[in-house]
Amino acid sequence: MSLGAVDVLVVGGGPAGMAAGISFGRAGLRTLVCESGSLPADKPCGEGVMPAGLAYLERLGVSPYLDLEHTRALAGIHYRSDCGASASARFAEGPGRGIRRTELSRAFCERAQEIDALEVRPRTPVRLGLRGPDGTEAWLDGRKATARLIVGADGFRSEVRRWAGLQGVCPRRRRFAIQQHFRCAPWSEYVEVHWAGDAEAYVTPCGRKEVGVAVLWAAEEKKTKGGQRLMASMLSRFPQLGASLRGAEPSAGARAIGPMHQVARSPVCDGVGLVGDASGYLDAITGEGISLALAQVQALYDAIGPWMISHDGVPTARDLQGYSRRISGMVRQHQGITRLVLFLSRNPRLAERAIKGLGRQPELFRWLLSANMGAVSAASFPKLEMVRLATALVRG
Ligand SMILES: Cc1cc2nc3c(=O)[nH]c(=O)nc-3n(C[C@H](O)[C@H](O)[C@H](O)COP(=O)(O)OP(=O)(O)OC[C@H]3O[C@@H](n4cnc5c(N)ncnc54)[C@H](O)[C@@H]3O)c2cc1C
Repeated sequence: MSLGAVDVLVVGGGPAGMAAGISFGRAGLRTLVCESGSLPADKPCGEGVMPAGLAYLERLGVSPYLDLEHTRALAGIHYRSDCGASASARFAEGPGRGIRRTELSRAFCERAQEIDALEVRPRTPVRLGLRGPDGTEAWLDGRKATARLIVGADGFRSEVRRWAGLQGVCPRRRRFAIQQHFRCAPWSEYVEVHWAGDAEAYVTPCGRKEVGVAVLWAAEEKKTKGGQRLMASMLSRFPQLGASLRGAEPSAGARAIGPMHQVARSPVCDGVGLVGDASGYLDAITGEGISLALAQVQALYDAIGPWMISHDGVPTARDLQGYSRRISGMVRQHQGITRLVLFLSRNPRLAERAIKGLGRQPELFRWLLSANMGAVSAASFPKLEMVRLATALVRG
């Protein structure tokens, strides 16, 4: 049985996919979002939405649907090393928010229901078929649909990326993550990042009585099995954090994920645009994925939405080049900072010195947070402070 033709088929109902559905659907384009799992969706994530991401949620009309009970304002980031170094900075752009993934997904779904041209289908994995002049064939639960534009929003292991021939070569050093929620009152208004020699733990307040803890580490082999035992062994590397969590019951099971680093050769080809983690993912170490995904969706819509409204047929890779160009600078800046932090994570002694240095220069730390979320450009780089930090790194 055929489901007929749509303008835009979005594969994946995470933040990127739902934002794409809302953006194209509210412009009157017939848009279908298919999510393979159930909705509202959950996912191992640090759940810190940065100020830039909150601004996109506002623009998409999602913010009014958030139940603040399942969220918590975030003042900034606080780094703590296991040797006692500490540095914190407030976001220059105002507070961010810790938001449970299920709550974010529920708010997206409610907002989507208001849009006539948008249909969201949970439990509907998509299999893509042939590309023709009128669109791409897609099989949804054995039923065929045709779409002029496929938006690949199916996460960092994207099948759309592979199907489109856009998969890049992934590096050999692989990092994994495990995440779990605990029932306890948040003890800080910051996202706390604990640095041990071989792993980092992120603590995000995400409700009045809940914190999320995500641990990231590098491993030679795939290591995502073991749930509760794996989480306990990871947490044993962070005695300070262990003390803060003493007596707190887990409010959900532990879930592991990885390897995180995934590469796309390009975010576009004929009839296809990749957004969010599907367009390539480096690491969760700087916790910006949701904000970046929402920025990409905005860039995709700006680049091709008006074309889709005024033309028939399938946009070519050339028509989609504007999107490619818009996101390359934004991704490069974010990945540059992520690579710097990853470098420190591989060199614990340098990390210790960097945290001490940032502790003495909160303005530089603040600038790095702003640059990471794309709120300031690399051109506004504070040279003097950077020289001071580099000196601190070299001298120890
Ligand atoms: C440990 C960890 C901590 C993180 N912490 C933060 C943080 O604090 N702040 C932040 O902003 N970001 C953080 N991130 C990154 C953030 O989680 C991602 O960047 C974000 O979820 C990207 O959204 P997305 O919609 O692209 O992908 P996803 O959220 O992965 O959504 C993809 C969706 O596609 C669906 N799907 C897959 N295949 C198909 C198919 N064939 N058909 C239909 N549906 C399909 C999946 O079920 C999934 O729901 C973290 C990531 C990790 C791993």
